[in-house]
Amino acid sequence: MTEIRQGQVSTLFRKTTLGFWGNIVLAAIYSAFFVLFRPTNGDIDSDSSLNYLFIWLVLLVAVCLYRRHITKQFDPNEHREPTQLALWANKHILLTTVINTIWGAAGFILVYDHPSNHFMIVGVLFSVLMLSIPVLSISRFAFNIQVVAVLTPIIIYLFNNYSIVNEYVMIPMAVLILAATFLTVSGYIHRMLMELRDSQSSLRKQANTDTLTQIANRRYFDQTFKNEWRRTTRDGIPISMLLVDIDFFKEYNESQGQRAGDNCLKSIAACMEVVTRRPADLAARYGGEEFAVLLPNTSMENAAMLGERLRAKVESLQLPHPTSDHKIVTVSVGVSCCVTPDLDGKADDEEVEVMYPAMLMNAADNAMFLAKQQGRNRVAEQKCGEQRLAQVLQKYAAKEASRT
Ligand code: GH3
Ligand code: MG
Ligand code: MG
Repeated sequence: MTEIRQGQVSTLFRKTTLGFWGNIVLAAIYSAFFVLFRPTNGDIDSDSSLNYLFIWLVLLVAVCLYRRHITKQFDPNEHREPTQLALWANKHILLTTVINTIWGAAGFILVYDHPSNHFMIVGVLFSVLMLSIPVLSISRFAFNIQVVAVLTPIIIYLFNNYSIVNEYVMIPMAVLILAATFLTVSGYIHRMLMELRDSQSSLRKQANTDTLTQIANRRYFDQTFKNEWRRTTRDGIPISMLLVDIDFFKEYNESQGQRAGDNCLKSIAACMEVVTRRPADLAARYGGEEFAVLLPNTSMENAAMLGERLRAKVESLQLPHPTSDHKIVTVSVGVSCCVTPDLDGKADDEEVEVMYPAMLMNAADNAMFLAKQQGRNRVAEQKCGEQRLAQVLQKYAAKEASRT
C-alpha cells in the first residue's frame, strides 16, 4: 500500500514543473492584456486596479515559488512511512488550493465591465484548472475544491453583472456548464487513474511472486537483498540469511511423482511463516527446491535458532519419503550472518556493495554444504567475518609477497 501511495504522491510532485511555468505564463498573459485594455478614463479606479494587479501578481508568484521549493525537496526514490507521504500530499494540495484561490480572486477584482475581458478571464481560469489535474491522482475531492476555488468568484461576478433577462446571461451560463462538465469528467478521470494504479500494483505483485508456491520469487529477493544490505551497512547492524534445501528431493520426485513434488514444495513454502515474523524478514523460492530467507537486524545466534525452528516445522509435517534416510521429507539449513566490518575507509563503496552481499550468500551456501555433509536434516552455520578475515589475510600476504 505504501508503494502505491508513494507512486501517487511522486506523480503529483513530478507534474509540478508544468504547474509552475503554466501559472507564471498564464498570469503574465492575463496581466499584459489587463494593463493594455483596462478602461482608462482618468478616474482613480483605474490606478487602484493596477495596485491590485501588482499585489495579486506578487502573491501568486511567491506561492508558486514556495510550492516549487517544496517540490525540489521531495525525492521520489526515498522510502517513506504512509503518514509522511500523506503529509507531503497534503502540503502540496494545500499550496495548490492557495494558488487557485488567488486565481479565483482575480475573477472578482481583476475584471472590468466588458464581455471580451470576461471571455479572457474565463479562458485563463479554465486553463489554470487544467494545470491542477495532477491533484486527481490523489483525490477527487481535492480537485473539486480547486474547481470551486477558481470558478465561484467569477460565476458570482458574471451573474451579478449580466441581467437574467438579457441575452448576455448566456456568458455565465456557459461558465456554469463548463464547470459542471469539469466536475463530472474529473470523477471519470479519477476512476481511470485508480484502475490503472490497481492494475499496476497487481502486475507488480505478480512479477514478484513465485507462481507455484505463492511466496516471493528470486527477482524480488535479490532486489530486497540489495536494499536491505544498504540499510544495514549504513546503520551498522547485523544481517543474516538462511538457505533451505530439501533433502533427497530428486528421489522424492522420482518415487512420488512430479505433482507430489510440487505439492511438497508448496507445503514447505507454507512453513516459512515460522521464520518470517518481523516485517523486514523475507522468504523466497530461490531456485528449484531451494529457499532463501533474509533476516535483517538478526544475530547469528537468533538466525540459527530460526533455522532450527524451520527444520523442526518441516519435520513435524511428517510427509512420507520412503527413499530418504529419515523416511520423511526433511530440509537442511545453512545459516550465515554478517556484521558490516568497520572498514574505516579501507574499502570503497563499490567493494562494500558488491563483495559483502556475495559473501553472505556464499557463507550460507557453505553452511548448507556442511549440513548436507553432516547427514542432512540439520542446521549448520558459517560466519561471514571469518571468511572476510581469511580474505584480508590472503590479500595482505599476496601484497607482502609481491614486495619481496
Ligand atoms: P540433496 O539432499 O543433496 O539436496 O539431494 P537432492 O536430490 O535434493 O538434490 P538435487 O539438487 O540434486 O535435486 C534437486 C531436484 O529438485 C531436481 C528436481 O527433480 C527437483 N526440482 C527442482 N525444481 C522442481 C520443481 O519445481 N518441482 C518439482 N516437483 N521438482 C523440482
Ligand atoms: Mg538443491
Ligand atoms: Mg536438495
